[in-house]
Amino acid sequence: MKLTQQILKAIPKIQDLSLENKKVLVRLDLNVPIKDGKITSMERINACKKTIDHLIKNNCKIVLISHLSRIKSIDDVNSGKKSLAVVADALAQIYPKNKVTFVKDSYDRNLPKMINEMQPTDIMLLENTRYNDVDKSGNVIKLESKNSQELGKFWANLCEVFVNDAFATIHRGHASNAGIMKYINKYCIGFLIQEELEKIVAFNERIEKPKISIVGGAKIADKIILLETLMKNSDQVLIGGGMANTFLAAKGINVGKSLIEKDMIETAKKLLVKYKDKIVLPIDANVGKEFKDEPGTQVGLVDIGTEMMILDIGMKTTKKYVETISNAETIFWNGTTGVNEFKNFENSTKDIAQAIANVTKKGAYSLIGGGDTAGAAVKFADKNDFSWVSTGGGATLAVIQGDDLPGLLKK
Ligand code: AMP
Repeated sequence: MKLTQQILKAIPKIQDLSLENKKVLVRLDLNVPIKDGKITSMERINACKKTIDHLIKNNCKIVLISHLSRIKSIDDVNSGKKSLAVVADALAQIYPKNKVTFVKDSYDRNLPKMINEMQPTDIMLLENTRYNDVDKSGNVIKLESKNSQELGKFWANLCEVFVNDAFATIHRGHASNAGIMKYINKYCIGFLIQEELEKIVAFNERIEKPKISIVGGAKIADKIILLETLMKNSDQVLIGGGMANTFLAAKGINVGKSLIEKDMIETAKKLLVKYKDKIVLPIDANVGKEFKDEPGTQVGLVDIGTEMMILDIGMKTTKKYVETISNAETIFWNGTTGVNEFKNFENSTKDIAQAIANVTKKGAYSLIGGGDTAGAAVKFADKNDFSWVSTGGGATLAVIQGDDLPGLLKK
């Protein structure tokens, strides 16, 4: 179902409920990147602050839950690498005036008592909700991911109000969103979900032309529904990244050793026919000999040798795409246009990020899809120079595509 401004208006919002002195359970996305036991980006935690601040102002007892990565085995639990304990430490630093505690088991039967003993403005973070996907003997039971009714009910009974602010998981019907929603009377969305939805729906509903989408990233298969949606919703779709190779191969162009999806060639051919006036493909390439960060060579499409690998769109394509972006009124970008992790092949991604930022400063509306693209956008330009950089990956695409959102809308 396509989200509209009208549907959005009907969803209860955190600022509409009276929360004074309430026990509040908050589902956040605290799925932070961690390296060697340290959080490497505070973006996600910072994105939750507005909602937590509001609850502190309202003297609430604040109980936070979140997933962190995926839990597939007991080793994932025992290693401690996917524990939210580090996030509790970070929260304690952000909120030095509040008592911040961490509870190692989010399904602990003593939780109701512990929560009753909290003081207003205390913050309690429960351990990774997905630890409940594996039992103590190592059986994969997926209580969280398969939306166990028991678990959803248990969490719902912990508090008086449920605030959902985990935008990144609204496309998933898990116990920690859909399950709780089913069993709680008072439900609302927090500030992050509100802002995300407003900005994405604004893109969907904008008619200001030219409306341009840039889609890159590794594969067509991951983004086929997105591509179809954008073809219908945009005036032009500029293709880059690994997925461009499959489109080029579908046109009979030799792409050498480049990454291609053989099983998507037929799909690519159909898209090229159906949307021939909208799809824009690269006209040249920056190629390497291997998937390595070594200086590349600029070549025309007819000069791609069998031993070559396309690792970025070429300079001419980049110039063409930048010009198109510079004249756009509405822009969506998802998927880097080259292997941006390699310095030698980051150029087009960098130029595109900067072109979008520049045209936004002149009044255009720009939405950056989450994940890798958001990271690249804020690496190469100032976050505030885009209209919105989404924090969701799959969730962002789900809202654009009009997918069901079981973690957002009460059934
Ligand atoms: P996605 O998560 O689908 O947006 O894909 C982003 C990934 O696509 C990045 O890790 C890029 O390195 C990768 N990518 C972009 N262009 C290419 C390419 N020409 N060949 C292989 N991978 C690419």
